[in-house]
Amino acid sequence: IVSLRDVRKFYGAVEVLKGISLDVRKGEVICIIGPSGSGKSTLVRCINGLNSIQSGSITVEGIEVNSPKLDVVALRRKVGIVFQQYNLFPHKTALENVMLAPLLVLNEPKQQVEERARALIAKVKLEGKENAYPGELSGGQQQRVAIARSLAMCPDVMLFDEVTAALDPETVKEVLVTIKQLAAEGMTCILVTHEMGFAREIADHVYFTDGGVIVEHGPPSELFNNAKDPRTRRFLSQVL
Ligand code: ATP
Ligand code: MG
Repeated sequence: IVSLRDVRKFYGAVEVLKGISLDVRKGEVICIIGPSGSGKSTLVRCINGLNSIQSGSITVEGIEVNSPKLDVVALRRKVGIVFQQYNLFPHKTALENVMLAPLLVLNEPKQQVEERARALIAKVKLEGKENAYPGELSGGQQQRVAIARSLAMCPDVMLFDEVTAALDPETVKEVLVTIKQLAAEGMTCILVTHEMGFAREIADHVYFTDGGVIVEHGPPSELFNNAKDPRTRRFLSQVL
């Protein structure tokens, strides 16, 4: 469903992705781990076209992401993204935040959008908070609204970039539970995370990146217990 082939990305003269190739099948959950600055955020931003690439190819369900003829709206409908910063609209309620994009982009009746938004808010366990403003919600609750907002576009793939990194420890879990539930329902997920326990538990496949390359990848049991590359081992010994 997602395929990257020898993807290279430069910021000016600096190459930050140095030939990344990976494949994600439908329903698969992959985790990307690695030290700060290794290019993880850049990578996920490239997948939904927020960053351009200089060579190689990225396809999402057959859509060529770096094509000059890219239909950005079609791509964004297929790929949801959630960031560390939830960036909800502060003057809109939780429900309005979730409804906004579908109302603007999908040609659906308002009532249908609202029904789905309410169902999604319930799904992320925020029933009763429909009319709360972001400022009245905890970080974890806001992040779950952000997840519901992405889901409202009915994406086929979800990208999560360190979505728990800015949260208080007590609210991290509720967000991870939400993601786990999505994964269990068969959502294709690409997760950048520092939560190694979570990665081990949820991932079908883990990629370790360093310095813009994939150093090593494999099923979590292999990567976490039997890393072959010394860079992977050093990283894991620091974070586990
Ligand atoms: P972290 O774990 O800290 O989030 P990361 O793995 O997500 O790190 P990226 O944010 O993808 O790393 O950054 C990769 C490299 O690209 C870094 O060296 C960073 O300084 C550089 N970089 C990121 N964004 C830009 C930008 N807009 N302009 C120039 N350089 C950038
Ligand atoms: Mg990052």
